[in-house]
Amino acid sequence: MSSLSPRTLLDRLGLRPQKSLGQHFLAQPQQARRLVAALELAPEDVVVEVGPGLGALTHPLAEEAARLVALELDRRLAEFLAREFQSHPRVLILCQDVLTYDFTALAREVGRSLKVVGNLPYQITSPLLFKLAAEKAAIERAVLMMQQEVAHRLMAAPGGRDYGILSVLLQYHFALESLFSLGPGNFYPPPRVTSTVVRLRPRPHEPAAADPELLRRLVRLAFGQRRKTLANSLAAGAPELGLSAARVPGLLTALGIDPRRRPETVSVAEYVALANHLAARKAATAPGEA
Ligand code: SAM
Repeated sequence: MSSLSPRTLLDRLGLRPQKSLGQHFLAQPQQARRLVAALELAPEDVVVEVGPGLGALTHPLAEEAARLVALELDRRLAEFLAREFQSHPRVLILCQDVLTYDFTALAREVGRSLKVVGNLPYQITSPLLFKLAAEKAAIERAVLMMQQEVAHRLMAAPGGRDYGILSVLLQYHFALESLFSLGPGNFYPPPRVTSTVVRLRPRPHEPAAADPELLRRLVRLAFGQRRKTLANSLAAGAPELGLSAARVPGLLTALGIDPRRRPETVSVAEYVALANHLAARKAATAPGEA
């Protein structure tokens, strides 16, 4: 990390932090090192950094990774970093939106799964998490700093207010660990909220969803009507699931799920069992027979 504070560096570059890009730069080198340490880098690891900004994480990562691809949407910061790292052949700075980046293609190119790291711009946390889930096969682990409130939603157990689409789908795909939290004073400019670092590791599913896309649709449908019972939420979108509304309560009962339960009380394993039942029905039912 540069010995200059983010504020001084930005001043020298004639730049101001862009709120719209979620720019809250890490001001403490020791916190940057903690985040990088959580990746547990081996010398052959290929790393993708999300939003390198002024390079707080990029510098320690560049010391350890076999190859580092850093994706920065702000063109002026990407140009600054490209100059900073021009003599590092193992570091590639790309001016790109991470949400359009093809992790799978990079993993294929380098012949190994990737480690992903970032102090995330808060507005893209959820879409990025869903993207990582979709490209899970390309990812070995991710260490991500996010709003504490989103970390709580990610890790939530069934039954509480925090438990929702993000909890079910991300817990299905990843083993999650909350590592440590940092208050606003660790960043420039300070954000309004506390940040939490979460480590994600792809995990084998037990039981596995036969059709992950169907699981995704089912969970979105269930939580789309949070205040309704599970049966009513699902009945509202039954055709989307290849089902008639009238069959929903019976089907839930047959799976041992009380139709009067609320979506936030249903466990990940129960959603998977339900999705698998629907997938099996779809496979066995000719069109028009649902
Ligand atoms: N890593 C730096 C640090 O810790 O000091 C900066 C972190 S700052 C919270 C988030 C960074 O992500 C900013 O540099 C911002 O410009 C960049 N960014 C915002 N949206 C992005 C996107 N969609 N794709 C890539 N980078 C993005």
